[in-house]
Amino acid sequence: MLSLRNWRRRRILSRHLIDADTWQQVLDRLPILDGLEPADAALLRERASLFLHDKRLTLLGDLQLDAPQRASLAALAELPLLRLEDLGWYQGFHELLIYPEDFASPQKHRDPASGVVHEWDDERSGEAWHQGPVILAWPGIEQSGNWDGYNLVIHEMSHKLDMLNGAANGLPPLHRDMRIADWAQAMQAAYDALNTQLDADPDAETPIDPYAAEDPAEFFAVTSEYFFSAPDLLHQAFPEVYRQLALFYRQDTLARFLRLQQEAERTQGA
Ligand SMILES: [Zn+2]
Repeated sequence: MLSLRNWRRRRILSRHLIDADTWQQVLDRLPILDGLEPADAALLRERASLFLHDKRLTLLGDLQLDAPQRASLAALAELPLLRLEDLGWYQGFHELLIYPEDFASPQKHRDPASGVVHEWDDERSGEAWHQGPVILAWPGIEQSGNWDGYNLVIHEMSHKLDMLNGAANGLPPLHRDMRIADWAQAMQAAYDALNTQLDADPDAETPIDPYAAEDPAEFFAVTSEYFFSAPDLLHQAFPEVYRQLALFYRQDTLARFLRLQQEAERTQGA
C-alpha cells in the first residue's frame, strides 16, 4: 500500500532532493560514507534531503553554511538511521542550533567520594536536550566524517535516540529481536572495565575515548561514534558492544570498513 507518508515523501523529494553536484561534494568530504552500496547511498541522499526539509537549522552569530555543508550535516545525522525504516526516530525535535564556535554550558558533577556537587561553565561542542533542540558547534561538525572515532553529529543524535524512551540512560528503545538483558550485560561489562582502568590510572591509555566512562548515556553516545567512525577499534576493545550496536543500528560498519581497507591495500600493492 502506498501510504500517505510515502506519498508525502515522494512529493517533497520531487522538489527538494539534494542535487547531484552537492551530493557528490558530500561524498567527497565524508570518508565514513565510503563503500556504501549505491542503493544505500541513494537512500541516504533521500533521507538527508528529507531531514533538511523537516528540521530547522538555526545558525547563530555570523555563521553561514552553504548547500554542501548543510547536506553533509544532514547525511551524518541520517547515517545511523539508514537501516531504521519508518519509525520516526527523529520525530521528537524540530530544530538544530548551530554555534559558530564552542559554547559555554553550565555543568554539574557530583564527586562520588565527597558527595560535593561541582558546577562550572564548560566549553562544549554539542548538547541534546530532552524534547528540545540539538545544539552543535560548527568546528565539531566540520571535524566529523573521518574514520577516526570522533563524530559530534552522531554523538548528539544518539543521545536523541536514547531519549526516545525517557531520560538518556544508555538504553534506547530496542528492536523486538533484541534482548534488554543482552544489551545491559554487554554495555555494563565494557563500561565497568573502562571505569576500572581509569580508577586505577586516570591518565590510562584507554581503548576508546575515556569520556565514555562518564555515565551510561555517554557510553552509548561515544560507542555509537566509534561504531560508525572506528568500528575496528570498538570491535577490538568491546566486541559484545559492537554486536549489540550492530543489532540496534542494523548495519555492519566493520565489514564495510574492512572491505575499504582491503581495497586500499590492493591499490597500494598494485
Ligand atoms: Zn554526550
